[in-house]
Amino acid sequence: MEKKELRAQVRQKKSAYTPAQLVEISVSIIEKLKANSKFHAAHTICLYSSLPDEVDTHPLIEELKSQKRILLPSIEDGDIVLHEYTSSDDLAHGEYGIQESQGAIFTDYNQIDLVVVPGMAFDPQGNRLGRGKGYYDRFLCKTHAHKIGICFPFQYFDFIPHDEHDIRMDEVIH
Ligand code: ADP
Ligand code: MG
Repeated sequence: MEKKELRAQVRQKKSAYTPAQLVEISVSIIEKLKANSKFHAAHTICLYSSLPDEVDTHPLIEELKSQKRILLPSIEDGDIVLHEYTSSDDLAHGEYGIQESQGAIFTDYNQIDLVVVPGMAFDPQGNRLGRGKGYYDRFLCKTHAHKIGICFPFQYFDFIPHDEHDIRMDEVIH
């Protein structure tokens, strides 16, 4: 199956759920993430501010902001740029309606312990399918951080198509 077809298949699966149902399913996925030893040990974590069709990260971000250094991606000139997040006062709506932090820009990629990565689909080998712009592939090749993909159960496939430039996850939680 091609990437395009798989994205269409995932979009169709998502449409069977209301945003409220997806928020509900997210709870157990976030619980598994919080129980992860790499997550526990990490001091500097890159999270993402979820859209209504993604695993809901908003409560987690608020919970962690006083405990760990939280980084959130923004899209600037076609690439991911990281900003520190300390307070909801920092947030503004960016491209695609994503809430982006306007906190200090963070470029010390070697200091990132963990990146929590959203995706359209993942497989057991850690392959990831994004929305088709390659943002995370270009960002993740700059860091040695541990990478955990998170997704709804219906986004986890036996095998997903991938290319040379696709960056694999170290773990996938679903
Ligand atoms: P996604 O990861 O969002 O599903 P793709 O893997 O299909 O999207 O990548 C989309 C495009 O991004 C690719 O066709 C490629 O041109 C570009 N791309 C991905 N990774 C890199 C990279 N490391 N350097 C330059 N371009 C890249
Ligand atoms: Mg890719």
